[in-house]
Amino acid sequence: MIYTTRKEIGLKKSDYTIATLASHSSLQILKGAKDEGFATLAIVKRGSERLYKSFNVADEIIVVDDFSELKDLDEQLSERNAILIPHGSFVAACDLDDLKALKTNYFGNRNILTWEADRIQQRKWLGKADLLQPKIFKSPDDIEGPVIVKFFGAAGGKGYFLTHSKEDFERKIAEHAGKEYILQEYVVGTPVYVHFFHSSLTGELEIMGFDKRYESNVDSVGRVAAKEQIELSIETSYTIVGNMGLVVRESLLPMIYAMGERVIAASKEIDGIGLFGPFCLETIITPDLKMYVFEISARIVAGTNPYINGSPYTDLRYDVPMSTGRRIAREIKHAIASDELEKVFQ
Ligand code: AMP
Ligand code: AMP
Repeated sequence: MIYTTRKEIGLKKSDYTIATLASHSSLQILKGAKDEGFATLAIVKRGSERLYKSFNVADEIIVVDDFSELKDLDEQLSERNAILIPHGSFVAACDLDDLKALKTNYFGNRNILTWEADRIQQRKWLGKADLLQPKIFKSPDDIEGPVIVKFFGAAGGKGYFLTHSKEDFERKIAEHAGKEYILQEYVVGTPVYVHFFHSSLTGELEIMGFDKRYESNVDSVGRVAAKEQIELSIETSYTIVGNMGLVVRESLLPMIYAMGERVIAASKEIDGIGLFGPFCLETIITPDLKMYVFEISARIVAGTNPYINGSPYTDLRYDVPMSTGRRIAREIKHAIASDELEKVFQ
């Protein structure tokens, strides 16, 4: 169901519309697109229409029962000159092959999605970029020290658990039968998520900001005394609830920037074109300031949401509030102006 028509909102046939699935970081993306002068379209799950209308960032709304219906909207979206901006819900709700087959303009490099979705490929990529990574244990027999057990796919930390021995692992994995997982060294330190933007038009790399996550129940077990944690057999879980802004020691920035540059260089070895647009390195920083990268997201992350009004870092470079969502729209605007859209749609 479409609520408004392009004509009603004064769009010409040639005008582009920035479109996305209404979840994750969509409010930021749509607001940023409007700030850059684009028309906007939100694909909303039935029941959330009133909420999305209330923010007034979507000129048009298409209602679906499930985000996986995106593939069925392909024709309609390309006719409307839509540009899809991917985020975490795309990878979580749609089949990778469906995303790759879309005819609608899509911001970013779709080939990289395959690397992001596969933890083994990701690890190769980060290795090529010479980044420090937590150790992987090939078999439960090798478990040594604290280990985090992770499942495949972007599930936001749901179901992850900690273990320290083969026996403990076998007891805990029993309730996750059939799922693919990895056994990763658990690094004790502070989690820091780094938001970057790489322009395929200018070749520049920008630090957009940082966040830390607020996860249930790991961020609240400290409210229960250690004695009670043991008595109640509380087990930690990492279900994402929200994000908080963060500023890092300025002396860490040169190392972080160089890490981002190496990730870009390594991505070019993967498919020639490489990673462009927003991406995030998910890290743990140890007390001796070693930065372990345990994951990469090759798209906008929801950790940028605290910065809809710009971050302390984007404030340095821009004279308008520059969210990552707005930065994407600005990149597309520049690509349209210089007739280089092929550099932003892959
Ligand atoms: P959602 O649209 O909220 O269902 O999220 C889609 C995917 O992105 C899920 O795998 C979530 O776990 C992940 N995700 C959603 N919100 C956040 C967030 N604030 N920080 C990190 N990951 C998130
Ligand atoms: P993810 O869903 O991969 O972003 O991770 C969910 C949670 O697990 C976050 O709180 C991370 O900080 C934590 N985490 C993931 N991998 C590791 C690791 N190797 N060592 C310590 N904490 C980790």
